[in-house]
Amino acid sequence: MQADDGNKIRARWKESGGGTCAHGDYEKEYYLGADTGDYVCKSCGETWMRGTKPPGAGAAGGQERS
Ligand SMILES: [Zn+2]
Repeated sequence: MQADDGNKIRARWKESGGGTCAHGDYEKEYYLGADTGDYVCKSCGETWMRGTKPPGAGAAGGQERS
């Protein structure tokens, strides 16, 4: 997903109340065609560094193992 699209999703998520998200559906984030090294949530637009747990998703953690 492009970082710009993530920004749009984040704005939409905020407008709709910005509740808790489990970040169950996410993909790699790209900016101007370059991999940013982050994941971006397709539901709320939250981003986090790959290899770390998504923020505020304690219950749904564990997808990423090293
Ligand atoms: Zn999310």
